[in-house]
Amino acid sequence: MNYHQYFPVDVVNGPGTRATLFVSGCEHQCRGCYNQSTWSPDKGHHFDEAMVNRIIADLTDNRIKRRGLSISGGDPLFPANVAAILDLVKRVKQAAPDKDIWMWTGYVLSELNQQQQAVLAYIDVLVDGKFEQELADPSLPYCGSSNQVIHHL
Ligand code: SF4
Repeated sequence: MNYHQYFPVDVVNGPGTRATLFVSGCEHQCRGCYNQSTWSPDKGHHFDEAMVNRIIADLTDNRIKRRGLSISGGDPLFPANVAAILDLVKRVKQAAPDKDIWMWTGYVLSELNQQQQAVLAYIDVLVDGKFEQELADPSLPYCGSSNQVIHHL
């Protein structure tokens, strides 16, 4: 898996102060996507062991208290990303069980395959659905368009 950007301190993507990871790779091609540079799974930087360790170190660093980790993209549940994401969320929950994990995907919860569903056991919130330009609503918290649903798992 590659990632596009990592923000160790973020107050925009999810509630409270968080660490946020934007992964590379997305097949949804939503019209009006604000993040087209993340579509290619080959773009960005290799997501390696050092990045996993860095995220865990940030989440457990009490000098800046973070409420949790946000994982967006691109699409964390893009098929080629799922194995690395599953490993990441398992290890974050093990190392920092008090932190919440929010995830954004263009897939709809009910259409996730078995491998994608395995990730759900380790995250707290899934915001699902493609960005629909006709339903875009900038006033919605944590969603880009009104078809998207915030699932508290
Ligand atoms: S799911 Fe997100 S990143 Fe992927 S095309 Fe849609 S808006 Fe863009």
